[in-house]
Amino acid sequence: MSKTFADFSLDESLTQALDALGFTTPTPVQEQAIPAALEGKDLLVSSQTGSGKTAAFLLPTLNALANQDTLVPFKDRMKAVTQPNILVISPTRELAQQVCQDAIALVRHMKGVRIAAIMGGMPFGKQIQQLKGAQVVVATPGRLLDLVNRRQIKLDKVDALIVDEADRMLDMGFYDDIMQIVKQLPDSRQTIMFSATMPDKIQKLAANILHD
Ligand code: AMP
Repeated sequence: MSKTFADFSLDESLTQALDALGFTTPTPVQEQAIPAALEGKDLLVSSQTGSGKTAAFLLPTLNALANQDTLVPFKDRMKAVTQPNILVISPTRELAQQVCQDAIALVRHMKGVRIAAIMGGMPFGKQIQQLKGAQVVVATPGRLLDLVNRRQIKLDKVDALIVDEADRMLDMGFYDDIMQIVKQLPDSRQTIMFSATMPDKIQKLAANILHD
């Protein structure tokens, strides 16, 4: 029998959001990736755009956020430097924006969660304002490193790193940027990589940034 989203025991706020979106049955990539990601495993997933890959990584990682009963009150987070729990890196602005919109739709019944998209071409001031207090950050690599260097964001509290469209990211020359980002993250984080193709360079990146 095929699975439903109810089989994953997701937080009530996420099942409500899935209902509102009209998602009833997980796609094959969601069916395989969500249970493993919920267990905290590192994953290397081969999947195409249109496969439902975005929800496959957002649902398990957002679920962990919903279960943190010690969410720092928003007014306190606003005063401090931004330290996201979930970091998604994307090759392009368009993809980062899309992932950000999908995440916003999924957290609409989750209280106190803020999501920010960080990408080149946007004015710094506006971006820094949007970033304040965000637990979920979706970013293109160059702009993210800029903001790290300007001390507007610290990546030492990241519980989950998602590398979306990793093959495209490498084709665009982001290998060094990715490695520089990974260096800022805690060793104990979960890492999930998605790629449409699995050439040697993807295996090499995976070997460098996944733990298991
Ligand atoms: P993606 O591969 O993440 O770009 O998703 C492709 C499209 O499928 C997006 O428009 C999603 O909103 C939609 N989608 C993702 N998961 C499901 C699902 N389980 N049921 C129906 N539609 C979905």
